[in-house]
Amino acid sequence: MSKTWCPLPWMSQAIRSNGDLRVCCQANTAEGRGILYKESGEAYNGADGNLTEARNANLMCSIRKDMIAGQWPSACVRCQREEEAGLVSRRSYEITNWESQIDFDQAKLGTQEDGKIDADDFPVRAMDIRFGNKCNLKCRMCSPMDSNSWYEDHYNLFGATYQEASGEVRLVPNEKGRFSTTPIRYDWYESETFWRDLDNLIPQVKYIQTVGGEPFLIDQYYDFLERMIDKGYAGDTTLESNSNLTVLPDRALDLWKHFKRIRIGASIDGVGKVNDYIRHPSKWHLLEKNLHRLDKAEGPFELWFTSTIQVANILHFPELVKWKLESEFQRFNNRRERPILTPHVLHRPLFFNIRILPLEVKSKIAAHLYSLLPWFDSYFSNDAEGKRKAAFYSANYKEMVDSFISYMNKEDWSHELPKFWAVTQGLDKLRGESFSETFPELFSMLEPHLNSKESERYKIVRTL
Ligand code: SF4
Repeated sequence: MSKTWCPLPWMSQAIRSNGDLRVCCQANTAEGRGILYKESGEAYNGADGNLTEARNANLMCSIRKDMIAGQWPSACVRCQREEEAGLVSRRSYEITNWESQIDFDQAKLGTQEDGKIDADDFPVRAMDIRFGNKCNLKCRMCSPMDSNSWYEDHYNLFGATYQEASGEVRLVPNEKGRFSTTPIRYDWYESETFWRDLDNLIPQVKYIQTVGGEPFLIDQYYDFLERMIDKGYAGDTTLESNSNLTVLPDRALDLWKHFKRIRIGASIDGVGKVNDYIRHPSKWHLLEKNLHRLDKAEGPFELWFTSTIQVANILHFPELVKWKLESEFQRFNNRRERPILTPHVLHRPLFFNIRILPLEVKSKIAAHLYSLLPWFDSYFSNDAEGKRKAAFYSANYKEMVDSFISYMNKEDWSHELPKFWAVTQGLDKLRGESFSETFPELFSMLEPHLNSKESERYKIVRTL
């Protein structure tokens, strides 16, 4: 089998928060962000009613050809980098997820020389739909494209425009200081054409991933679930969402009971003030309450914690692991084969990526992460079951830390440090927060490398 083959370009469709169609969410890291364009140069959009036509967009065809030839498509650079660093890429687990539906030989046989496929031969089994950018948080590593709560900070810190893959977007404040975007809008999912298109696909689809913004805040998400239940497809469909879980409405808990499986990745980047700082304005005590409520709710749940490892939280990873084990969740990452947590390294923005850390800081961080290893023996009991758990979890922890360190050390991007510091200070000022007070240990390691003068080179356009 080709070492770069992935089933997604043959059986899945993905829609960005502005409605543009793309290869898959991982391709967001690549130049061009994996967006599918028509011959006219215009991006395919979920609102236009071209879901089936987009399956043979030029980019999809060239990705299929590359994969069949055993080459990495440039759109798949994230999976490529992760695999080269010894991490488990989405490509590898999607092969396992879909092995009963599609394999390499089948894909190769059904693909024409120019990379096109007949949509009837390869039904859409998985959909990744992002219903706009409505979100109640403005996480440090996020942007106006994925959270409308980011509009004001972006306007004040970087200016009135930002670059979407399909063009420049302008933030326009009204008299009350509320912002809207032009010309791109994020309400594409209100298009009736989209729902008609989706109705045609729903009978084929077995797996629907919905992400926001924050999907649990979005009314259309619940309307969508009700439609699936009414049409009789819910019992055969798995739903997956990534959520910040700062909201957990009763309506969601009632609807989820009807589905085959509900998979939720809770985005947690640290404990207490670490999470609140990164995922502003989340409140840890409320979030923890929702986590325990979901952990005990009735329904076909599979739950896990997904953590984005970046400059601000890498040193605090041991704390997060201890919190997870000490909280004794029933469902979150609790299947025997599941890791303690399901972390992934942040790729973009580059200035928050752990590769920007100076070499000396990287080695101090590595030593700190490994220093947790003896804790597992002391935490679990001394009987046979306790020893088994200690061995399993410490090996699992070491594997995660090895992969972060291997990724972090692979390249030196410390030239991004001035930009990291400029943006961090800018956001601190706007949000009334302080990096140095929230992360005193990391700050003392970084301080000798932070040159405020050099940071000034970066354009922070508003007076803060
Ligand atoms: S290889 Fe990775 S980036 Fe490419 S389609 Fe598969 S999951 Fe997406």
